[in-house]
This record gives sequence, C-alpha cells and structure tokens, in this order.
Amino acid sequence: MPKPLFIALLLVLPIILAVATQSGWVLILTVALLLIANPIIRTIRKARYFRSEQFQDLKQEIASVVKEHNEVVNYVAEIRSEGAFELGASSTGQFAHLATFENTSAWNNRRDRNVAEYAPHVHNASLQIVRNASQDPIKYLMKYFGIKADQTTLMDVQRVANDIARLEEAVGNVRSREAAITAKIAPPAFIMEHYAGEFWNQIGAHLSPIQVPYPLYKFQYTSAGGNTSQELKVDLNTPTLEALSEILVEKIRWAKSAAGQRALMTARLRSYIKERDHFTCQQCGISTAEAPYLLLEIDHIMPVSRGGLSTPENLQTLCWRCNRSKGAKVIA
Ligand SMILES: [Zn+2]
Repeated sequence: MPKPLFIALLLVLPIILAVATQSGWVLILTVALLLIANPIIRTIRKARYFRSEQFQDLKQEIASVVKEHNEVVNYVAEIRSEGAFELGASSTGQFAHLATFENTSAWNNRRDRNVAEYAPHVHNASLQIVRNASQDPIKYLMKYFGIKADQTTLMDVQRVANDIARLEEAVGNVRSREAAITAKIAPPAFIMEHYAGEFWNQIGAHLSPIQVPYPLYKFQYTSAGGNTSQELKVDLNTPTLEALSEILVEKIRWAKSAAGQRALMTARLRSYIKERDHFTCQQCGISTAEAPYLLLEIDHIMPVSRGGLSTPENLQTLCWRCNRSKGAKVIA
C-alpha cells in the first residue's frame, strides 16, 4: 500500500479502535498487526507483479535489448581486466608489499591513527609538503610519485587516460541501457524501492558492479604521536590526466625534444572524431541514428604501440564490436 496511506492508517486506525473499545490493549494490538501485515502484503503484491501477464509480455519484448545489455556488461569487464590503471609510485611505499605491518597491542586505542599507510599510491610527507601539494597537485604528483617528463611517461599517461575514458564511456553506456529498460517496463515504485535486485534478476539482466578505477594518489602526514594527520587526495580522472598530459608535453617541448610534438588524445578530440565520422562505425557502418545506445569508441588506425599518433588522420570511429575484434587481431 502507498506509504502516506499506510502511515495515516497506522496513526488513526488504532486510536479509533482504542477509543471505540475503551482498551489500551486494542491500541497496541492494532499497531502490531499493521506493522506485521505491511511487509506480508508487499511480498504478495511483488509476487503478483512478477507473475503478471503484462510484466511477462514486456520481458519477452525487450529480451534482445537485455541480451545486448549483458554483452556490453561483459565488454566492460574485459576493458577493466585488460586496461592499464597504474601510474607512478611513491618511494615511501616502494617496498611496502614486502612487509606486513601489524599493531598487536590491543590496549592501544590510537593505533589506527598513528600507523601510516604504506602503499605505492601514498606518499608520507611533512605537513608542509601536504599543504603545498594542495596548491599545485600535478607538480607535486610528478615530483613525489616519480612521474618523469619524458616521452615514455607521456605515452603511459595517455594509455591510462585512454583506458579510463573507454571505461567511463562503456559504463555510462550500460547505465543508459538500464535506464531505457526501466523506462520501457515502468515497474511500480515499490518494486524499485524494495526489490530492485529481484527486478533485474527477473528481467535476466546481469548488472555491472564495475566502477571506473580512478587511480587515487594521497599525500599523507601523520604526526609522530599519531594525534594529528592530514591528507590530500588526488584522483586521476579525465580532467586531471589531461592536465598532466599537457604539462608533460610542455616540459618535453621545453626540453627541445622533437618527440614533444606528439599530439594528445583528449576528451575534446574524441568527441570531434565521433562528430566528424557522423557517429558511424567506419568498419560496419552502424550508427547511433539506427541504434541510439550504440557504444562508439575511438580507434588508432596505426596503433600507438607501432608509433601511431593521436592525430585526426590516424583516428577513426568504430563500434565496440568492431573495435574488440580489431584488438583481438592486433594481439594475435
Ligand atoms: Zn562496427
């Protein structure tokens, strides 16, 4: 039953009954009955909804949409497992994986405060460095995580940026497919509120729990006594990676290296290529005009690994299926 109605009933009905029968027990009993009945009624309504002809018909109707949704979910998992999401490491955490750090003193209630984190993405620094890093995060990131201004590093940064952008788009694509499925079936609100998981099971869609794994870098200061600590987090998302790429290019150019002339892959260039190609796969010809939820990707015609540049002439739009089979061929 709808929530406002239930609450009104919960407040009014017991009082009316209690007044009518002049008994406090009736009041308590009615409240208890209503509280017990509500979830039972909800379960019955849910079962009836999933059995209904209307739901089964819609489910049949969108079966092919769901199938494609599941394929894209698998593709997301592929990108996630093959992608590069690592960049630079702090010297303070370089050998941390060799040690197991454990504080065994059970009486020490401050132990979680004075144990510094030793991980490749955490730099343990003085308070001054943590403060300065917040003013100029990219400069400090490069300095303390050993991100050098050279051609190899730039290619690394671009590779990570590319994998993150691909994953962002693919995850976004899955989310909009899910939204489209929900809009088409339009389940009652209580279904999505209480039985969303069961809804997707019934539909036959497996959901992607995958988040975009933005590398997270931390500058961390912990005082010797463990009473104070301060942290600065730098998330390597698309804007940060693009800013980092630009700074690297500047520095490489400044070093008068011819290699610094390399073109950069940016979010802007990516959407420019899609527009230029009219949102159409350059291999199989499918376009967003015929398939609104088509996942399009940007492909280097001559792969980066063979010296291909991120210039418009070397870039083309491919649908995810064609890009995936091209990738398989390059590896083979
Ligand atoms: Zn294609």
